[in-house]
Amino acid sequence: MIPSAIQTQIAHAVDRLFDRQVGLLRELVSIPSLRGQEAPCQDLVAATLRQMDYEVDQWQLNVADLQHHPGFSPVMYTSYERAYSVVGTHRPRRQQGRSLILQGHVDTVPTGPVEQWTSPPFAPTIRAGWMYGRAAGDMKSGLTANLFAVEALKLAGYQPAAPLYQQSVIEEECTGNGALSTLVRGYQADAVLISEPHREQLMTAQVGVIWVQVEVNVVPVHAGYASSTFNVIEACFPLMQALRTLESQWNAAKTPSFADVDYPVKFVVSKIQGGEWTSSVPARCSFDVRIGIYPEWDVAECQREIAATILQAAAQDPVLAANPPTIRWHGFLSPGYLLPENTEVAAALAHAHELVCQSPLAHHKGTALTDSRFYGLYQNTPALVYGATAKNIHSFDEAVNLESLRRVTKVIALFVAEWCGLEERI
Ligand code: ZN
Repeated sequence: MIPSAIQTQIAHAVDRLFDRQVGLLRELVSIPSLRGQEAPCQDLVAATLRQMDYEVDQWQLNVADLQHHPGFSPVMYTSYERAYSVVGTHRPRRQQGRSLILQGHVDTVPTGPVEQWTSPPFAPTIRAGWMYGRAAGDMKSGLTANLFAVEALKLAGYQPAAPLYQQSVIEEECTGNGALSTLVRGYQADAVLISEPHREQLMTAQVGVIWVQVEVNVVPVHAGYASSTFNVIEACFPLMQALRTLESQWNAAKTPSFADVDYPVKFVVSKIQGGEWTSSVPARCSFDVRIGIYPEWDVAECQREIAATILQAAAQDPVLAANPPTIRWHGFLSPGYLLPENTEVAAALAHAHELVCQSPLAHHKGTALTDSRFYGLYQNTPALVYGATAKNIHSFDEAVNLESLRRVTKVIALFVAEWCGLEERI
């Protein structure tokens, strides 16, 4: 247990560093780290880690290294030519406590129409205590909390008395292959904390996610000569409806971990593409769906059921029966994760949260996915997800609450102190 005088020193150190922390967050949000463009942001994180005295390891993601791992998801979009993972390692003079990974991702989802934003998504602005900008919440805020929690210990004259790894990853929003690459590289610790913006609550369960793309192809004709009423774009609608029916069936078949959550597995038709000329009957239509699955379920079995649903619906249409849809799995093929109950690491976080927030740590179950599954499922390491309050994630006017970020940084600092122990900084 950290003496209360030192706890107070650490909390004050977070306050003293907070302007610098917000400054770094502003810099990070200014860099549009969309898929395929994350390298400048990772370079900034690596440079920051070097300034903070970490030993820095930065490497390129390589499909050949990852694809044999059960946690691998097929890659979509661009190549991994400029795709990097970054890890900063702190080593104690003498290890007394337990090792820890603090993790955050810098990849971000697209902005949508920028005119819908009150201020430009990559020009971070603070209004009424919130910093607005794409990834301000999800989750560059968390990354700064990880970094400045440890800086606060140092400013107070201490450092973690155990190995501590600051991991900055990419691909969280489409495959998780960035987090996976840290496992394959050999990184492991006694516990993990991922500072996703989860409203200062601990996530105890999360769904898995599958991405599927369905494509239908036929031979095109002039619109004036269309010989039947068949239309490849319209033919996709019954396939989507069949998936909607499967979604209701899965939500009616809740597993124990999500028994108390309303409609936990969500199917979202998120993209559609078809046709190329207004007076041509379209030759091709494809649509993409994001599908949630229960943590108790097997990904491959779910894939089989999804494919069977699509093909059965297609068989009802004579043209589609003759031209069956192509089904592609790209992006997430990811199981869910259940945090083991009553772990020491969750107790340490709860204690730190109570010290700072003067209230018990609340729990929730996530109907979206995080990287925690990798550490939990493949390294048997408890992986906590806990971070600041954000709003409009993946939407317009995404923002993080700065006072919440300050509290969370204090919580993480005290949690690191308790979990890793402290030694004096010379
Ligand atoms: Zn995130």
